[in-house]
Amino acid sequence: MALEHPDLAPDTLTVAAGRPPREHDAPVNVPIVLTTTYHETRAPEAGDRIYARGSNPTWDPFEEALGALENATLPALVFASGLGAAAAALSLIPTGGAVVMPRHAYAGSISLAGDLAAQGRFELRTVDIADTDAVLAELEALTARFDAGQVMLWLESPTNPMLEVAELSVLTDAAHAMGAVVVADNTFNTPMVHRPLDAGVDVVLHSVTKWLAGHSDVVLGALVTSDATLRDRLLAHRTLHGAIAGPFEVWLALRGLRTLALRMDRSQATAAALAHRLVDHPAVRRVRYPGLASDPGHERAAAQFNGFGGIVSIELDDVATADALVAAVRLWLPATSLGGVESLVERRRRQPAEPTTVPEALVRLSVGIENPDDLWADLDQALRVAAGPRDGGL
Ligand SMILES: *Cc1c(COP(=O)(O)O)cnc(C)c1O
Repeated sequence: MALEHPDLAPDTLTVAAGRPPREHDAPVNVPIVLTTTYHETRAPEAGDRIYARGSNPTWDPFEEALGALENATLPALVFASGLGAAAAALSLIPTGGAVVMPRHAYAGSISLAGDLAAQGRFELRTVDIADTDAVLAELEALTARFDAGQVMLWLESPTNPMLEVAELSVLTDAAHAMGAVVVADNTFNTPMVHRPLDAGVDVVLHSVTKWLAGHSDVVLGALVTSDATLRDRLLAHRTLHGAIAGPFEVWLALRGLRTLALRMDRSQATAAALAHRLVDHPAVRRVRYPGLASDPGHERAAAQFNGFGGIVSIELDDVATADALVAAVRLWLPATSLGGVESLVERRRRQPAEPTTVPEALVRLSVGIENPDDLWADLDQALRVAAGPRDGGL
């Protein structure tokens, strides 16, 4: 199961990894294998496919490619959704243990952990992940109360949608010194921008739904680790809990992954250009983007990451202005989710699960691959409409 291609650059791996073997007349792309079961002409042995809840040939090339991209020594594991992958990752916490999460982690991840905590599975502690001292203090307090191996540190950096940047290696080293397992949600960065396993993280999580698949047409998740014991446990969770991906979805995700490098380059370049222009816009109170020199996460992001991502968050004067912006865009799509070729706007606090410490008038921009001038023109006109007089107003 060891992965090939260790020396290729990530943008090459997106294209070259996960191909069928080079055999005469073999297809260059993976077929979609629609089957529930496999011929068994002898007694089953370890590694046999047996039944399609456990294994599907269409998963393998995607898992190989994502494992190689994250610089893992083992293939990734694909799940039915990002949250399906999160549930498997959280299952690594022993009953009665604890997890430390960013208070601004993806709302679904916090809701899931909160739900499990309410059932008494483990304790959930939330922290400001950008405040390294606070995270270390929380970890120390837990180490005093829990045995080694009972605690998990959950990283998400930058956070969704506040774009706070954590010190990944510092926190990971400290957590390991205390015997904790470290999971990093790398959905925002993608392996083009950062590879958390290189920073010592144990398990990387992806909502493949977002940048990796990249076309807003498939819901999928993945976990990546180089630890064979952890991978076995995550694989067992996937097979037993049954949160498996359909082969067509995985095929679409691999097809999307082939253009990840190009899409990320374009989205990041446009996001940076928009962020710089938004800073000077009279209707915008605050811009959050780690690529801005003025952003609190800028130095850390520049030191750790190979880019600043394709998400920009802006704060407007009030909820009415933010809602008016979302209503006034014509090219940008008013929709949740992110990471697709099409640009999306959303006032995040519209979602009931969003933490209340996310400002109510914060609008998250997911920057796609359209022409940057067209995106700016639409955003600018919508901001002017939003900031101008409204129906029933003055
Ligand atoms: C969307 C998202 C998830 C959840 O993934 P799904 O595929 O929607 O289940 C997890 N983490 C982050 C950062 C996300 O943006």
